[in-house]
Amino acid sequence: MSDPVSSSSTPSSGSEASQKPAPAKRKRVNVRRPDVMALVQAEVEKHYRSSIVEKLRAKGGELTIGNTTIRLAKQFGFCYGVERAIDLAYATRKVFPDQRIFLIGEIIHNPDVNTQLRDMGIVSLPWKELGKEYDDLNAEDVVIVPAFGAPTSFMDKLGEVGCHVIDTTCGDVMKVWRRVRDYAKNSVTSIIHGKADHEETLATASRALGTNKDGHYIIILTIADANMLCDYILGKGDRESFMAQFGANCSDGFDPDIHFDRVGVANQTTMLQSETENLQDLIRNAVQERDGDTENYHVFDTICGATQERQNALFTMLDTEKQKPMDILLVVGGYNSSNTTHLAEIGQESLPTFFISNAKCMESLEQIIHYDLENKAEVTSDYPSIVSQDQPIIIGVTAGASCPNNIIESTIVRALELRGITQEELAAIS
Ligand code: SF4
Repeated sequence: MSDPVSSSSTPSSGSEASQKPAPAKRKRVNVRRPDVMALVQAEVEKHYRSSIVEKLRAKGGELTIGNTTIRLAKQFGFCYGVERAIDLAYATRKVFPDQRIFLIGEIIHNPDVNTQLRDMGIVSLPWKELGKEYDDLNAEDVVIVPAFGAPTSFMDKLGEVGCHVIDTTCGDVMKVWRRVRDYAKNSVTSIIHGKADHEETLATASRALGTNKDGHYIIILTIADANMLCDYILGKGDRESFMAQFGANCSDGFDPDIHFDRVGVANQTTMLQSETENLQDLIRNAVQERDGDTENYHVFDTICGATQERQNALFTMLDTEKQKPMDILLVVGGYNSSNTTHLAEIGQESLPTFFISNAKCMESLEQIIHYDLENKAEVTSDYPSIVSQDQPIIIGVTAGASCPNNIIESTIVRALELRGITQEELAAIS
């Protein structure tokens, strides 16, 4: 993974294109000093490490006590981008012990991690728009850019203020930015497959305007969106209804009668791969049908390796040809985490799946407070079957890229506790 900005306080350094010249007063600070990182590692380990998860991993991911089996995904939890972002946030506090430190939105989508940072005095700033809080910043302040990145307008504002900027944007997100900038340079409209209200997608959309800010983009999320877009490409769409549907999610001045001549697809790094591939096929076929070839169609699969690995690991867990099927699946992570949401979507296709934020959601194995993807709200399940302690059960556990091991551990401990297995019994397993 590229690591273009890990040790600089410079806003959008490396390939990141701030549209305004860097102010002279901007300070460069290396927060990745060995002495700092040694302290950070110790603290991060203390906060997020789990000996039980490590033990389970060492046992091949499966542990049976009595008639209860926990099956843990081979790949789960913190990805490299998230680990790096958290390390840098902790390092920032150490390098700037007495200065005001701010963070654009959330460092990652996990409530427990964000609470830790808040407890360290790191204050969250709005991420959807440049609120007045940004006018109150001064050159002595420190601002952390989260792993998702931030729109160019935010980076420009930080440049104007001249404050210290610790940019934790993941290298995989930057790869998407490079791609959409290239599209803009070549007059190709970016079709961004992602959530229009997600930090990463907003940041990517701003780069799709290109260096000269004359590029165009449209953000789509579902296959239904893609079908509507394809109809338009094929001359079957209605302009008014098209713009009513997508007007809020495209670049200023976007004209569907002009800007679909040349299109390029890019996706938010954490999308569901099968859906992204379907969507790419639909758009490719529409261009082929319209033009007779695919010269005006471009694509670059930008799902990150960590997202892909976690999705693949879940498919392996679900493979009943290789092992006994799981009875329930617990997907642990923040409800606003895109990659975790997709794990829950994959799970619920096959078995009772509960998307929970932490162990407290498990009031009992019959009643689990979990996030309902359809209604976008927490609900309490009433799930009386298979949970009698007399019956064997296989409980699957996986977690999104922003979920720390200590939260996974407490989930496993709680699930076992609900099956009458104590922490002591768990600890006794070698
Ligand atoms: S999920 Fe992927 S893109 Fe996001 S921080 Fe992790 S590695 Fe980077």
